Amino acid sequence: MAKGNYLRALRQLILLTILLAVAVGSYLSRARSTSWEEPLWVTLYPIAADERPVTQETVRDLSKDRFADIEAFMERETGRYGVPIARPIRIDVGRPVTSQPPAPPDSRNPIRIALWSIGLRWWAWRSTRDQPGATPDIRLFLVYHDPDLRPQVPHSLGMREGLIGIVHVFADRRMRQQNNVVIAHEMLHTLGATDKYAPDDNQPLFPIGYAEPDREPRYPQASAEIMGGRVPLSATEAVIPDSLREVRVGPYTALEIRWIESL
Ligand SMILES: [Zn+2]
Repeated sequence: MAKGNYLRALRQLILLTILLAVAVGSYLSRARSTSWEEPLWVTLYPIAADERPVTQETVRDLSKDRFADIEAFMERETGRYGVPIARPIRIDVGRPVTSQPPAPPDSRNPIRIALWSIGLRWWAWRSTRDQPGATPDIRLFLVYHDPDLRPQVPHSLGMREGLIGIVHVFADRRMRQQNNVVIAHEMLHTLGATDKYAPDDNQPLFPIGYAEPDREPRYPQASAEIMGGRVPLSATEAVIPDSLREVRVGPYTALEIRWIESL
C-alpha cells in the first residue's frame, strides 16, 4: 500500500472511532436518563436576554424553590404511573451564564442543523465548565426576557443529544408558574418526549396530546397533556394551563419516556 493511502485509511479509522465513541456515549446517557432508577440531576442556568432591570434582577435572585412545582409534578406523575422512584428529578440553579446560546438556523437543511447542534453542545460545555459541583444529567438554560420589551419570545427547545434545553421565559413574577410548564415540557423533550400539538393552530392532537383521551364526555378536558401543551375545551378550542397543577403526563408521553412499557 502506498504511504498516502495508508495515512488516509488511518485518518478514516480514527474519525470512525471518534464517531462511534460519541454515538455510544450518547446511547448510554440516553439509556441512563430514562431508566428511572436514580434521580436525574437537572441544573437550570439563568441567562438575561436584555439589560432591563427586571430581567437582571430575576436572573440574579433566582433560587431553586421557584421551581419546586416541577419536582412536585414529576413526583405526582411518576406516582400515578407506578414508577418506583420517590424523587425522579432534583433541580438545582446554576450561576448565571453571560453568553447567549447560538440561534437555531432558519433553514431546514440537515447539515446546517447538525452543525448548529454540535455548536450548541460546545457552547453549553464552554459556558458551564467553570460552574461548581458535578456535571448534571440535564442542562436547561433559562433565557429571561422582559415581557414589556418582548411580549413574544423565540421558540424554546429541548434536545436529546447532550440532554440540553434552551427555554425562553418571562422575567415577570406573574408568569412564574406558566414558565414552569414550559421548562417541564422542554425537559421532557431531552428525555425523548415528542410534541403532540398541531404546529399551525397549537391545538392538542387527539388522542396523543390529551391527558385523558378516554374521558367521557371528551370535552372539556380537565387538564393539559404536558407535550400537547393546552387544555382542550372542544375540538377547536384549547387554553394554556395556569400552572403544572393543571398538567398531566399522558399515556403516549409516558411510553416515550419509558414510564410504561406498552399502552
Ligand atoms: Zn415542544
